[in-house]
Amino acid sequence: MSAEVISGTELAKDIRTELKKEVKVLNEQNINPHLTVIIVGDDPASHSYVKGKKKASAEIGISSEIINLPEDTSETYLLEKVNELNNNINVHGILVQLPLPKQINEQKIIEAISPKKDVDGFHPVNVGNMILGNDTFLSCTPYGIITMLKSKDIEITGKHAVVIGRSNIVGKPVGQLLLNESATVTYCHSKTKDLSKHTLDADILVVAIGKEHVIKAEHVKKDAVVIDVGVNRTKEGKLTGDVDFESVKEVASYITPVPKGVGPMTITMLLKNTIKAAKQIGK
Ligand code: NAP
Repeated sequence: MSAEVISGTELAKDIRTELKKEVKVLNEQNINPHLTVIIVGDDPASHSYVKGKKKASAEIGISSEIINLPEDTSETYLLEKVNELNNNINVHGILVQLPLPKQINEQKIIEAISPKKDVDGFHPVNVGNMILGNDTFLSCTPYGIITMLKSKDIEITGKHAVVIGRSNIVGKPVGQLLLNESATVTYCHSKTKDLSKHTLDADILVVAIGKEHVIKAEHVKKDAVVIDVGVNRTKEGKLTGDVDFESVKEVASYITPVPKGVGPMTITMLLKNTIKAAKQIGK
C-alpha cells in the first residue's frame, strides 16, 4: 500500500485559521503583532522567501515590514539596525534573512537580535532553552516537522529517528526536538560511513541534505515515516526534494511531499512564533 502523504499546505491552512483568531483577540487588547524582516542583497531565492513570509503574515493579520539593504551593507550598519529594532516597542519579531553577504558575520547578527524577538529561534539563548526542554522560540523548520508528526498522531517515543544533515537551522535542532519527544536519535552527515545501514533502521527518517533524490526506496525501512526537508531545483526548473518521492512512497507509511510539505509549515511556525512574541512583549 502506498504511503499516506502528509500535506504541509493543508495542515498550515488549518493552523493559520486558528492563528488568525489569536491575532484578532490580541488586536482587541490593542496588541498588533508586528514582524520586521531584514534582507541584505539581491539573492532572488531569499527575496522570494521574504515575499512569502510577508504575504502569509498579512493573510492572518500580522503586520510586517521588509527592510531591504544593499549587498555592500557593513556589519556595523546591520548591527545598528538590529539594535534599533530591539528597542522599538512596536516590533515583536525580528528576522534577518540568511545567508548574508561575506563581509557580515552571521553568528554575530543572530546573537545581536534580542532573544525575546528572535522568532527564527536561532539565538543561542533560545537554542539552549530548546536543548533544556524549556518553553522558548523553536526554530521554524524543526518546529514545523514535529507539528506535522503530531498532527498524524505518529508515535515518536521509543522510535528510532534518523536525521540526515547536521546544520544549525535544520538537522541539529530537529534531532534535538525528536530526542525531547523521547525518540532514540541518530545523526548522519557527509562523513557518515554506510548511510543505508542507518537509514534502513529508521522508524522516522528526516532528510535535510539539499541534494536531489539522494534517498530512494532501497534506503528506507518498510513502513517508516519519511520527512523530506530538501528543496532542490531540477534541470527543468521544478522544485523537488532530497527523497525520491515516487519510489519511497511505495515503502513508507507516511511521507511529506516537496513542494507543499515542510515548506508551508516553516512559514506557519514563524507566524506562530511572532504571535507568541507579541503576547510576551505586549503593547
Ligand atoms: P546545509 O547547511 O547545506 O546542510 C546539509 C547537510 O547535509 C550537512 O550536514 C551535510 O553534511 C549533509 N550532507 C550533504 N551531503 C550528504 C550526503 N551525500 N549524505 C549525507 N549527508 C550529506 O543545508 P540545510 O540548511 O540544513 O538545508 C538542507 C536542505 O533543506 C536544503 O535543500 C534546504 O534548501 C532545505 N531547507 C528547507 C526548508 C523548508 O522550510 N522546506 C528550510 C530550511 C532548509 P556535513 O555537515 O558533513 O557537510
